[in-house]
Amino acid sequence: MIGTVTLNPAIDRRYNVDKLDINIVKRTSDYSATAGGKGLNVSRVVRILGEKVLAFGFLGGSEGDFIQRKISELGIKSYFINIKGTTRTCLNIIDELGDNIEILEGGPTITKDEENRLLKVFKSQIDNLDVVTLSGSLPKGIDNDIYGKLIKVINEKGKKAILDTSGRDLIVNLDSRPFLVKPNREELENIIGGVLNTEEDIKKSAKKILDLGAQNIAISLGSEGMYFFGKLGNFKVNIPKIKAINPVGSGDSSIAGFAYGISKNLDIIEVLKYANACGVANAMEKETGKIDVTVVNEILEKIEVVIL
Ligand code: ADP
Repeated sequence: MIGTVTLNPAIDRRYNVDKLDINIVKRTSDYSATAGGKGLNVSRVVRILGEKVLAFGFLGGSEGDFIQRKISELGIKSYFINIKGTTRTCLNIIDELGDNIEILEGGPTITKDEENRLLKVFKSQIDNLDVVTLSGSLPKGIDNDIYGKLIKVINEKGKKAILDTSGRDLIVNLDSRPFLVKPNREELENIIGGVLNTEEDIKKSAKKILDLGAQNIAISLGSEGMYFFGKLGNFKVNIPKIKAINPVGSGDSSIAGFAYGISKNLDIIEVLKYANACGVANAMEKETGKIDVTVVNEILEKIEVVIL
């Protein structure tokens, strides 16, 4: 079973409009509200791939109840800690050209007691999990080595941790030795403090992250595919050209593909194909964190993994 950790979940509200103008009232009947936050996007995509998911994190208020109901409807089993604060809402407004504006609320503050309850329930369930994804920014109030604490529990049981976060939240948790981290190019540039133009630039930066403790690193490049470096080898993944509709959530979908492939003990080349096929398939959907399995299977055939 695949575990997902979403410490700062959100209601994702999508609004489709004709054109992104400012100072104008926009009306639309094309909108939706889904259970979001990067880890819940991962959970949803893993479910669509047909695998069992156990979701962990914090939920609070009527927004939290909404998310709990939505994920139960999707057949996702969960152990969310009920918190005093209120779960956040995030907005994504998309126009017909594919341009979008995202607004992310900061979210609630987590208490020490709530954090301890999460660690306790996670430890009680780790034996049921093969791979655990840990995604997104940290909520306020929580220790910034929380991911490291969870990864320690995962590694002690010989399970695999996939950490998908950015900036300081990524750096301070690397010494816990996550199996895989997946910054996108921009996130890696922000950590390194420079522009990464060439393969050599990306390789050098990846090495720094590996030296800090990650066992493997995938650097996702949007429509240009992905690089992968680490103990499983060095690769460039080339993906087919598609007409992107909404690439928000493609990174989360690629994490779901990684978790799926790794939990099935697939060869790394197959794992990379799944990760990218899920990312590409998500970019072809309107909804965030959604894939069509038929499309995934078609794209799998068109992905090329080059050994570096
Ligand atoms: P993030 O959402 O974390 O920024 P990316 O945008 O790099 O991650 O997307 C992750 C993966 O999804 C990419 O490596 C690629 O395989 C796929 N993908 C993302 N955007 C597109 C796109 N516009 N066209 C085709 N594939 C895409």
